[in-house]
This record gives sequence, structure tokens and C-alpha cells, in this order.
Amino acid sequence: MSFGYIDVIPSQPSRIPSTSPNPIHELVHSCNSTRTTSITSCTDLRSDYYSAQVSGLQTDILQLSASRAMHIQSIPMWEGTGNNYAYLVSDDKTREAVIIDPAHPKEVLPVLDEKTKAGLKLSTIINTHHHHDHAGGNEEIASVTHPFHRSPIDLSQLKHYPLPIIGGRDCTRVTKTPAHKETFNIGSISVTALHTPCHTQDSVCFFFQDGSDKAVFTGDTLFIGGCGRFFEGTAPEMHKALNETLAALPDDTKVFPGHEYTKGNVKFAKTVAGDNEAVQKLDSYSQANKETQGKFTIGDEKKHNVFMLYADPKIQKAVGQTEPVEVVKALRAMKDKS
Ligand SMILES: [Zn+2]
Repeated sequence: MSFGYIDVIPSQPSRIPSTSPNPIHELVHSCNSTRTTSITSCTDLRSDYYSAQVSGLQTDILQLSASRAMHIQSIPMWEGTGNNYAYLVSDDKTREAVIIDPAHPKEVLPVLDEKTKAGLKLSTIINTHHHHDHAGGNEEIASVTHPFHRSPIDLSQLKHYPLPIIGGRDCTRVTKTPAHKETFNIGSISVTALHTPCHTQDSVCFFFQDGSDKAVFTGDTLFIGGCGRFFEGTAPEMHKALNETLAALPDDTKVFPGHEYTKGNVKFAKTVAGDNEAVQKLDSYSQANKETQGKFTIGDEKKHNVFMLYADPKIQKAVGQTEPVEVVKALRAMKDKS
């Protein structure tokens, strides 16, 4: 019994066989840009484990083991312009990892190189939608991260990439588009695809759960304090995506959007939400922190995201509408002009 928890504590990271070529390494060293991107969101089970071990709290160890095996590392891309995020999500038990929206290989590959050398096994690319600043890196990432491929290769000769690409139907070189609510596993992490058409018709959000740890990767559908433009869809679709599909997730699900747009979203929210306390808190946080991804939950969004506050009398008054879809539609029109 006293060692029962050992099974779920990660062992030393497994290594790619030393005989395998490391094309990521080769490519990274041939890149002009090799700067290291910042790590902004990464839980560390091992440090928790050792802290707990020192204190002798086995109960805590068990809880940590069950709830903190999912690592999420943000990779900022195009800082100062697009302010995109790619995310590297890994399962601490199996070291299996996926990369979400790795659109800018020059900023993503150095991170993958470092993590691969440390034993992480990248198994899949995931895309939230087809826009180039989300799915535009698929070809390069898929080709250079597979151990049997060396750069340069003739991409046009490959009909199917060995590294699966899971995403919306219009994403570059997508190999699998999961059905709405279809689930698959990344090691011990359960992933559920949630179709949220509007920003694009192929928009898919991905809900990750590992024990009590929950995260949703929302692409350009839901931002912290805002939502994406309705490029290919309608207000009823966005209302359904935000206020039915995503709102149905557990309130303690952390939100990881495709862009850092929080400051702009708060600026707009303040014009329609009056003295909303949650909006004011988000305002303070975004002024003090450059990055906000993973710091707020679905429960928080229901309190400070005006597109999810369609029933709030102050917001209804500000937009001159009361029907939920009309409120969402009016808010988006106002935001587009702001
Ligand atoms: Zn987009």
C-alpha cells in the first residue's frame, strides 16, 4: 500500500533510441531564428511529487498524481502582431505529446527540439481551424518531426503524413476530422472534439481532461473576455458555440485561446457591461499581466465575457436587444466597429 502511488508517478523520461536521426535538431540548427520562446504555463508534477515526498504527505501525492499529469506549455508566436499561441500538451505518464496550432515553425521547432531531446514523444498535430495562422505550419512540422524523414523532402509526393493531423475539415493536410463529441486519447489524457462553427465552418474546440485537470483549446471561437469574428458563420451559430456547447463544459475548465486579445476585449466590455465587477477584475489582471491564457475558466467566462452575458440586463440595455441571439449579434457588430 505504501508504494501504491509509485505506478502513477512518472519515471525518468523515456528517450528516443540513440540510433534514430533527429531531424528536428537538424532543422533547428539550420534555421536563422533559434530564439527560445517563453514558457508561460507549465505544471510540474515532479516538483510537486518531491515536495510532497519530503513532507511525507502520501495523500497529497495520490491527489497530485491523479490530477496533475497533464502539462500545458504555451508557445507565443508573432508577438506584437498576431499574438498567437501554439500549445504543447503532454501526458506525464507516457510522455506522449500533441502540438496545437503550430503555425509558425521557426518559433515552435526550437521548443519541440528541446522537449524531444528530453524524451517527449510528439504523436499528433491538432488544429482548431483552417486559418493560416493556426494550420499554416502543418507541412513543415509534420515533415521534420517524423523520425524517418530528413529535410529536405518533397512534400508534394506525400499523400499522407506519418504524423497525424487532427483538425477541422479545411485544415492543411488534415488526416482526421473527428465528429462532434468524438473522443480520443493522448496517453492518459482524454480529448473530446467540440464542433463550434462560426468563425470558420470547420472550427473545432478540444476539451482535454486528465483526472480533475481540465482544459479547453478554443482557437478563434472563444477568447478570454471575447469571441472570434463571424467570418464564415452567423450569430445563432456563435451563440450555440459559446452559450450551449462551451458553456456546458465544467466551470473549472481552463481556457486556452488561439490569441492574446484580452486587453482589447476588456476595453470593449467596459463600454457595454457598466460596473460589472468581473469585467473590472479582468481589466486589472490584463493590465498587470502580459499573458492571460489558462488563467481563467469557463466559469469565469460566464461572468466576464460579454458574449456569454446575453441575459445581463445592463448589456441588453446597452445593445438595445433582449433575445439571446440578437444580443450576441449586436455585440459582435459593435465590437467590429470599435
Ligand atoms: Zn482564425
